[in-house]
Amino acid sequence: MIDDLSLKKKIEALKKSKQAVVLAHYYQRPEIQDLADFVGDSLELSIRASETDAKIIVFCGVTFMAETAAILNPEKKVLIPDVNALCPMAAMLPAELVRVYRKEHQDAKIVLYINTLAEAKAECGAVCTSSNSAEIVNKVDSDLVLFGPDTNLAHYTSNFTKKHLVSIPTFGFCPVHKLFSKESILKLKRIHPDAEVLVHPECDPEVCKVADCVGSTSKMCKRAKESPAKKFIVATEVGLLHKLQDIRKDAVFIPANNEAICVNMKLHTLEKLYLSLKNERYVVKVPAEMAYKARKALEFMLK
Ligand code: SF4
Repeated sequence: MIDDLSLKKKIEALKKSKQAVVLAHYYQRPEIQDLADFVGDSLELSIRASETDAKIIVFCGVTFMAETAAILNPEKKVLIPDVNALCPMAAMLPAELVRVYRKEHQDAKIVLYINTLAEAKAECGAVCTSSNSAEIVNKVDSDLVLFGPDTNLAHYTSNFTKKHLVSIPTFGFCPVHKLFSKESILKLKRIHPDAEVLVHPECDPEVCKVADCVGSTSKMCKRAKESPAKKFIVATEVGLLHKLQDIRKDAVFIPANNEAICVNMKLHTLEKLYLSLKNERYVVKVPAEMAYKARKALEFMLK
């Protein structure tokens, strides 16, 4: 058993010797975020993945994110420390289901949230994130848009477009963001009347309604940085609080629900990251034809 300090040193040394870069999502464990070369949301991480000169990318996030890095970097080795880091929401929309919906709505364009499997991305016209969903929906060439897999993000996006959005599937949701309720946020607000409420758009619409700011994790970071408020109630996965506290050392961040933990994101540990770098495992591979089609949908967004 190696202690954390030795593991950190070994990870740093391996990063240098193998010309590797570690990308981590905001929902990762604090010790992983501290070791990462870049910490960000899905959009920022996909941009970083497309720009890096590193030979190896170690992706600390769920598998669809590592797949995205592999799709954008066919010539690089993309590793994930734990292959079981799956996103349940992404699994709600397999490619087969996208094809069924496409048959039913032949004149529609399909826009999928980046939280989808590579096989589903390969079936759509454009990918979006929670930072740019409305912008992407407004750019596709159709007034009828099939949008998935998150019904809450579809609802939020529909506030910023005149287009008709159809949720695919009709039941898609993030189990972590379902844990927030309007009542518990209002209760916290009564205790901390001076706090601003930051809410992720994967939360239910009634939760979004009580927010001072609804947005992606990067938008929440921006708001915390720029706001004069000294207290924030935060409705997203608790891992973001580590970054928020780093950005605003003088402010207090209160989780809207302490139990909002994505167990899949937390599967990556320092030891698994070390073993991933040392043994160059587990390599993320996306079949060439699927990767080609998914890349086109991602490039529509990145442009
Ligand atoms: S927080 Fe929700 S959407 Fe994000 S990886 Fe976890 S389950 Fe998936």
